[in-house]
Amino acid sequence: MRNIAVLGATGSIGGNTLDVIARHPERFRASVLTAHRQVEALVALCVQHRPDLAVIADPALEADLSRRLTAAGVRCEIASGHAALTAAASGNLCDTVVAAIVGAAGLESTLAAARAGKHLLLANKESIVMAGPLLLHAVAAGGGALVPVDSEHNAIFQCLPGGRPDLRRSGVRRLVLTASGGPFRGRTRAELADITPDQACKHPNWVMGRKISVDSATLMNKGLEVIEAHHLFGAPAEAIDVVVHPQSLVHSMVEYVDGSVLAQLGNPDMRTPIAHALAYPERVDSGVAQLDLVQVASLSFEKPDYERFPCLALAMQALSAGGIASAALNAANEVAVEAFLERRIGFTDIAQTVAAVLDAVPNQRPDELATVLEADAAARRAAIDFIARRPIAGRTAVHRDRANRALQ
Ligand code: NAD
Ligand code: MG
Repeated sequence: MRNIAVLGATGSIGGNTLDVIARHPERFRASVLTAHRQVEALVALCVQHRPDLAVIADPALEADLSRRLTAAGVRCEIASGHAALTAAASGNLCDTVVAAIVGAAGLESTLAAARAGKHLLLANKESIVMAGPLLLHAVAAGGGALVPVDSEHNAIFQCLPGGRPDLRRSGVRRLVLTASGGPFRGRTRAELADITPDQACKHPNWVMGRKISVDSATLMNKGLEVIEAHHLFGAPAEAIDVVVHPQSLVHSMVEYVDGSVLAQLGNPDMRTPIAHALAYPERVDSGVAQLDLVQVASLSFEKPDYERFPCLALAMQALSAGGIASAALNAANEVAVEAFLERRIGFTDIAQTVAAVLDAVPNQRPDELATVLEADAAARRAAIDFIARRPIAGRTAVHRDRANRALQ
């Protein structure tokens, strides 16, 4: 029986994970559930899954959580705050941790799980982008295993010989990450300027949280995934390619020196990589519909457009710069995506913000967590500053003019 901590249980990955867990009560148990501020949703999950511990990251909501759990007849430990999150990830109420918090907020609990030797299922790609070497070192020192949940990396993991092999000795020539191209694949540069948050969050193939949905629309998600693949599989940047595949059925590929290309296919449903990672090295039913290739009929592939989607090129630039550049890229992107979702900047301003921050923040070697966190903070300040000073453009200008007129 695996006791599983689902960090970010109220999110999209969290919900899919709990769906798979509930299908196998004889194998899996959700022993720890955590959320940021969604008390009601967390209580509902506790009623259904009866964990040993519920953690709410915002301490101001602990009393509310406690009251509601009592009213719902759930008896479990309750904790709050970031230290409680880290303690839950490394404590003895779980042997497996699903790192499904979004953004840099997930870094410390992911690291804590790794250090404690947990079976770590990594969805929180931002943590490996920020601190890849530190996280992998923590996994090795802790003696646990890391299985990627991100569908592309899970696919590559499935197409490689076991564990984290030496790619060259295994005859791997390159890793090919597939990208759906997002909802704006065919749009012109001019059309991209007017995109609204709701349009950006409507992904053609996947239902996901709002931050990763925007990242998929800008292709920053694929950029973060290239960095993630570099760290996870020890692949040099030049051995990682991105190919746009609008159907999202081939989740990624590994090309070997003899010309063989191994691919993992499946319907676009995160329960497949989640079930694979939960049961690894065994296999369990995930609830995902069987892939009907006859109905699919054809698969297509095309080159990514780095000019219309500069975030992908910026991520590759950060990867080759090394040091804290990837942490700075990630932080700037998080600030810019939040500003876009709050309609303070336009869609194309996201890439501009990230580019400006990469130029502004000096690079250095991230030998320890403190250096990474300082780089993250410096990049956030630079991004906030850039957004405040940038010329007002497009529809955001219309909104701001209206707001200003209302104030006068
Ligand atoms: P989401 O927004 O749906 O859920 C995020 C979860 O994190 C929620 O439970 C929320 O309460 C929690 N959270 C947010 N901020 C927090 C904070 N400051 N402190 C503590 N908890 C916090 O996000 P998601 O789409 O489920 O994505 C989660 C992670 O998985 C992201 O890193 C994303 O890139 C990655 N991922 C998601 C998908 C997908 O299909 N959704 C696919 C691949 C990778
Ligand atoms: Mg992915």
